[in-house]
Amino acid sequence: MAAARATLEDIRFQPQAKVAERWPSLLVIAGIYARDKYQCRYCGEKVILTPVMRLVARLFSDVFLDRSRLSGQWGP
Ligand SMILES: [Zn+2]
Repeated sequence: MAAARATLEDIRFQPQAKVAERWPSLLVIAGIYARDKYQCRYCGEKVILTPVMRLVARLFSDVFLDRSRLSGQWGP
């Protein structure tokens, strides 16, 4: 039994410690949006800061669905 345990300990699955996602500060993000004139650098589509979208979603929750609340995800 001890030998079996020792063998299993050797091949035991070690879950990776989850690395917390790191985002720049809101001030930095807002500066980037302003720098890029609130347009996607790749396709030119208009972009809106996520906190602004959240605010709009909260103020107009009857007409604007806040998807982040459904999925529990943060992001665009
Ligand atoms: Zn784009």
